Amino acid sequence: MTGTAPSVLLIYTGGTIGMIENPETGALESFNFDHLLKLVPELKRFNYDINTYSFDPPIDSSDMEPYHWERLARIIERNYDHYDGFVVLHGTDTMAYTASALSFMLENLAKPVILTGSQLPMGMLRTDGKENLITSIEIAAAKNPDGTAVVPEVCIYFESDLLRGNRTTKINAEKFNAFKSYNYPCLGHSGIDIKFMPRRIRKPNVNQPLKVHYLFDTNVVVLTLFPGIQESIITSVFRMPHLKAVVLKTFGSGNAPQKTWLIDLIKEANERGVIIVNITQCQSGSVEMERYETGRQLLEAGVISGYDSTPECALTKLMFLLGQNLPTEEIRRLMKTSIAGEISIEE
Ligand code: ASP
Repeated sequence: MTGTAPSVLLIYTGGTIGMIENPETGALESFNFDHLLKLVPELKRFNYDINTYSFDPPIDSSDMEPYHWERLARIIERNYDHYDGFVVLHGTDTMAYTASALSFMLENLAKPVILTGSQLPMGMLRTDGKENLITSIEIAAAKNPDGTAVVPEVCIYFESDLLRGNRTTKINAEKFNAFKSYNYPCLGHSGIDIKFMPRRIRKPNVNQPLKVHYLFDTNVVVLTLFPGIQESIITSVFRMPHLKAVVLKTFGSGNAPQKTWLIDLIKEANERGVIIVNITQCQSGSVEMERYETGRQLLEAGVISGYDSTPECALTKLMFLLGQNLPTEEIRRLMKTSIAGEISIEE
């Protein structure tokens, strides 16, 4: 924080990375984050100013809520001018949701916000936590010769790959290689050196100050279609009181069964102002509703394309836009616009 040494704020929210095995019981317990240096003495070898901030108590990321995202954004906003970059230690289970949400909240971000975690606790011999932490800190501190940040984005760094946060999905519950970005290539890769891919990294508008948006609206639902899905199920979902938006996970390139009751329910919800966003159940690729009749009928019923969005991103983007209290038409327009590099469409 002082002098010319790069400065990084490490924010610990919880999750496996900050756990240690109790030698007597074998159970995993959160360690006191103030003792981080004892567990990772390698950090001293960085010539960086590293300060830490810990959630108290730390939380398993399954307990993450939008108010935790707000808390994270507030910590970043308050400390923005004092640090070159931020590393957020987070449980892996919902890391992709938090990364997506932060990417929308932190408008005009010009500094790195790198989320990382681990599959094995830091205190274990074969932990992946140390490498993930150390490299994330290096990425958060990395600067171009002109002093600007190399990666001014919200990213997830995990097991050698630096990924755009709002493009990332957790894909594995046990392997170290737990995250993937199917529809956007990695922004960097660590091997002997950390290699960045500058052309894939967003360029911030340096003339605009950071603007943080805080509010979310959680009157949203993710609905996955499947062969045999019943009318009564869809009816109760679409007619839920207060419902404002649905992420509809369809087949292939955005297709749904050609059932009159389904299309009628969608039309009716759309007319009531419920925003219905179509994303594919496939891990990779994009929705193209014009391609088949089974997709076109959705388009005609008022469904909008989520393009190649991840489910985590489509959901958090809707919660974010609804929280900004914008008119429905504006939310529909922004869902079809890339606002933080989250969908593959002209910006
Ligand atoms: N359940 C843990 C969490 O997401 C798993 C992890 O950290 O990897 O907080």
